[in-house]
Amino acid sequence: MFNINKIRQDFPALHQEVYGKPLIYFDNAATTQKPKAVIDVVNEMNSKTNGNIHRAFHYLGNLCTERYEAARETIRRYLNAAKKEEIIFTSGTTAGINMLAFSFGERYVHTGDEIIISEAEHHSNIVPWQLLCERKDASLKILPVHDDGRLAVEKLPELITSRTRLICVAQASNVLGIRNPVKEIIAIAHAHGVPVMIDGAQGAVHGGIDIQDVDGDFYVFSGHKLYGPTGTGVLYGKEKYLAELPPYQGGGEMIDTVSFERTTYAGLPLKFEAGTPNYTGAYGLKTAIDYLEQTGWDNIHQQETSLVNYAMQRLQEIDGVHVYGAAQPKTSLLAFGINGIHPSDIALLMDKTGIAVRAGHLCAQPLMRRFGVQGMLRFSFSFYNTKEEIDTAITALIKAKQLLA
Ligand code: PLP
Repeated sequence: MFNINKIRQDFPALHQEVYGKPLIYFDNAATTQKPKAVIDVVNEMNSKTNGNIHRAFHYLGNLCTERYEAARETIRRYLNAAKKEEIIFTSGTTAGINMLAFSFGERYVHTGDEIIISEAEHHSNIVPWQLLCERKDASLKILPVHDDGRLAVEKLPELITSRTRLICVAQASNVLGIRNPVKEIIAIAHAHGVPVMIDGAQGAVHGGIDIQDVDGDFYVFSGHKLYGPTGTGVLYGKEKYLAELPPYQGGGEMIDTVSFERTTYAGLPLKFEAGTPNYTGAYGLKTAIDYLEQTGWDNIHQQETSLVNYAMQRLQEIDGVHVYGAAQPKTSLLAFGINGIHPSDIALLMDKTGIAVRAGHLCAQPLMRRFGVQGMLRFSFSFYNTKEEIDTAITALIKAKQLLA
């Protein structure tokens, strides 16, 4: 049974005041607050059970190695990846995309080749590909977005050419909250022999993906958005690709043999995990996934859907509010504007009443341009939020609007 009061007790950060007001945290798409189970396990590892992994002959090193590999197995299961070796730990989505852009680019991208991304991507899924295109004299092609926020997937076949090497799209938009039809996109791409990378930053937190079902070739996400520690994340890649890609970084643990003449590399996944990884964070991330599974994904979806629908209804009661991206299905966030008022001004006033919301370009300047605005306001909900919090936020929003009008 889903008991919201009990759930909220699991998250210490929710029980604080800012500027003398109880915190209302609606910036969950940026990062989520951590359950006590995650905080405790990270504290325990930092205060007691810390030993560097994979190279130890002692108890603590072995314990941390076991935990790190257990985390890898949990993530394999969470994504339904075929093999543990396909799960590479990174420091987050951005790190995973940059790693892929480098390694995939070195192996498969040459002068005149093309990479396709969509108009609705986060800067993290734009700039690494631009850098790759600059390095390789390749070009970036853009899949447009419809007025209702849907990707123009019907235009994808005509964008793909014999020079297309990779297609990179978000599982869900961090601005519009729309879940993209990734299975359909992958099917179209594969029909043309092109692999696909899914940016799962806003998808992993809403139940993840069945990567074998959608037949995704690469998938990246950040642990800190999935109720885990900062500085954690994952790059999933099909073994057939990862085995072919050169390493991104060199260092300890990613080698097989080293001599001054020649170095050979370790097998997967270690080839892509040079140096001491964030094993504490990885185990914290596993703990977060365990916590979410115990809470129940159905419960989480139900609560988040009811919150986002309620917020939509309350926002539409306010004169001059325009919610962007009407298309469904949505995750649990809403981006909107208010006629004649700058989003940052509203966000600053709401902050002073203890309400954390996002405002600005939301790391998606091309999408802002698409909608002809400089910025938007965003409410993003977690299952630990409540309708009462939405009511308080709407009252604060109306007051801020009156003050600024
Ligand atoms: N991609 C999307 C869709 C995101 O929402 C975000 C973060 O908001 C990122 C990428 C970047 O994630 P991180 O900053 O954790 O690397």
